Amino acid sequence: MIMEQISVFDIFKIGVGPSSSHTMGPWVAAQLFLKEVELDKLTSLKVDLYGSLSKTGKGHGTDTAIILGLEGHDPKSIDVSKINDYILNINNEKKLLLDNGSHILDFDPKEDIIFNKEKLPFHPNGLTFTGFFIDGSSIEETYYSIGGGFVIQENADKSVQEQKPFPYPISSEADILKYIKENDMNVYDIVHLNELAWRTEEEIDDKISELWLTMKECVFRGCHREGILPGGLNVNRRAYKMNSNLIGEIKYTNVDDWITKIKECNHSFSNVTKWVSCFAIAVNEENASFGRVVTAPTNGAAGVIPAVLLYLLCFCDEQPKSAIKEFILTAGEIGPLFKKGSTISAALGGCQAEIGVSSAMAAAGLTHCLGGNSKQVLQAAEIAMEHHLGLTCDPIMGLVQIPCIERNTMGAMKAITASQIALSGNPEIAKVSLDQVIKTMKETALEMSDKFKETSEGGLAVNISVAVPEC
Ligand code: SF4
Repeated sequence: MIMEQISVFDIFKIGVGPSSSHTMGPWVAAQLFLKEVELDKLTSLKVDLYGSLSKTGKGHGTDTAIILGLEGHDPKSIDVSKINDYILNINNEKKLLLDNGSHILDFDPKEDIIFNKEKLPFHPNGLTFTGFFIDGSSIEETYYSIGGGFVIQENADKSVQEQKPFPYPISSEADILKYIKENDMNVYDIVHLNELAWRTEEEIDDKISELWLTMKECVFRGCHREGILPGGLNVNRRAYKMNSNLIGEIKYTNVDDWITKIKECNHSFSNVTKWVSCFAIAVNEENASFGRVVTAPTNGAAGVIPAVLLYLLCFCDEQPKSAIKEFILTAGEIGPLFKKGSTISAALGGCQAEIGVSSAMAAAGLTHCLGGNSKQVLQAAEIAMEHHLGLTCDPIMGLVQIPCIERNTMGAMKAITASQIALSGNPEIAKVSLDQVIKTMKETALEMSDKFKETSEGGLAVNISVAVPEC
């Protein structure tokens, strides 16, 4: 059997909010579909959305993402400030400029993107593209957005493993512990060596720099934008005021200067927790408004890792010289463990699969950077997930706003607490292993009602009146 190989840079992806499974995945699926089609023979196309993609697709911007994907925009580089104009234009003109305008097609999003109530058997996030050609023939391709921006095509040949194998293939915590014992390495060393099988040190460093730049700019932008988030729930942005209250009269000129000034701020427990919450909220307010974020491991949970990484950089005295790289690579190995052993899709596992996994990732990265040994790193991840088990996904109006934005603060704080517990304890006598908590999460996900799996059919989504302002 071929073991799935997932790079850290598959888990951390630069993209556009609000959802990795409902925005990024369908966007990628649209791009993949276009590669299957002879554009000059195409006369029309339609897209069918199924299951969770249909139930919360409007609030999660699925239709917008599909249109942008079909038009050939890249989520990594699109000017996010123009997204509203693009969509407005298509709704008015009812024309798609396929593949950056090389082909123009009649397309009415209201008619040609169909929100079906039923779900496809393989996964709750299914979508089918049907293209109709000039000679009367047609092509139909189905894709599944399986969480974290990962997409698979129905009936695709999965037996071909194109990438060079990792020297240390990992599918469980037990694999990591085996390598550590045999080779006197830590978690970071193993991940680093695996990444070096696919790219050079310089390429790794470039990718880390790009990710960190995107993360910190996202936090900075979120802390400096006021107003109401889009979508109709009338949620006020709060990071702006939190930042203003915390930073006070201190002046700064750019994001790096801002971070330097935060380091000099009061380090009281109250202040630090407010800053961590501010960082996480800032990211997810950007995510909720089609801003650029780093999927970590999903968009809904994109605030946890930057918040905990900034906590490390701003408020912790002891840290390695290459703290950002070591944090990201260590955290990046924990996400795949959950993807392989359980899920990172809220449509399959509820919010434990998003915020829970991001918290476990952050806890591991922080513990490594604060000097924890590998067993403490893995235990921190275990503790963080243990206290997210059973967490449901019930976004009001299908928007990634309530409870999602605040929930990132909780994931970040739990990650910090989990790290502190692991660092002050003895992992040798821990009763619960990371593998056991991953298995438990999977079983909990299977038992969880579909109402709590990104359908907005249960929990807060049905108990909160839309007119109520954010709590
Ligand atoms: S409740 Fe959690 S899983 Fe659901 S959309 Fe919000 S952040 Fe994502």
